[in-house]
Amino acid sequence: MSTGTLEGKVAIITGASRGIGRTIAEELADSGATVVVNYNSTQADAEAVVSAIRDRGGTACAFQADVSQEEDVRRLVAFTANELKRIDILVCNAGVVRDQLIAAMKVEDWDLVIQNNLRSVFLCTRAVVPYMMAQKHGSIINLSSIAAERGGRGHSNYVASKGGVNALTFSLAVELARKGIRVNAVAPGVIATDMSQRIRNFGEEEILQQIPMRRVGDPREVARAVRFLASPDASYITGEILHVTGGLGV
Ligand code: NAP
Repeated sequence: MSTGTLEGKVAIITGASRGIGRTIAEELADSGATVVVNYNSTQADAEAVVSAIRDRGGTACAFQADVSQEEDVRRLVAFTANELKRIDILVCNAGVVRDQLIAAMKVEDWDLVIQNNLRSVFLCTRAVVPYMMAQKHGSIINLSSIAAERGGRGHSNYVASKGGVNALTFSLAVELARKGIRVNAVAPGVIATDMSQRIRNFGEEEILQQIPMRRVGDPREVARAVRFLASPDASYITGEILHVTGGLGV
């Protein structure tokens, strides 16, 4: 049951086996896009996403790639270009957390978060841009976080990675605008997924007190923002960080 606004478009969604990425894949497919459901380790989950999309009349395939690794990203993008013949939308959604207070933070946990959350955006963008330039058209949407603008105790690696994502979004928007490529980010607040489960378990009531709308977000509320930025409705929007936070941080 396609709404049609992304008919004929091909989208890569990184980290789409669960959570927000899964919901984005479903939302873009419902709008008519053919979606590549990237995953790293959770193959069965990714295949379930593909089945769910196909059951609803959409078109999707799963592709394993660790998007923090150059060669894996090259494989992902080459597969998409060869099999689907174009790349219109890239959603850099894959992300991890490894929270720790700074004095106890291991170098490995710093590097892991920066590589998965920031280096992956650089690698994926660099790989798709030649195809988007040839098409003179493309939309790149990065998953940032409200945390990038607020800081957070025990969160410094994650916050630094998302601050980097925002900076990269601004810079790439300027660099790629004349090529017909728009680059934006979506910055969620607290969204009900595996990633936020631990902090929600730790103090849901305390978190809700900080959110003006007094509830956590649903992944679909993030996915709709991504769909908007990917669509022709956002044709004059680039370099924007769209907050989906229920008012958190306002
Ligand atoms: P999640 O439920 O933990 O899912 C993360 C997804 O990323 C999984 O599909 C995972 O795949 C994938 N992934 C991680 N590293 C990868 C890699 N190197 N290569 C390929 N895939 C990889 O997370 P989420 O809550 O949906 O978060 C999605 C994005 O939104 C992240 O960028 C996150 O920082 C951001 N965000 C989330 C919240 C929130 O409250 N949930 C708030 C603000 C921002 P595998 O399982 O196969 O490894």
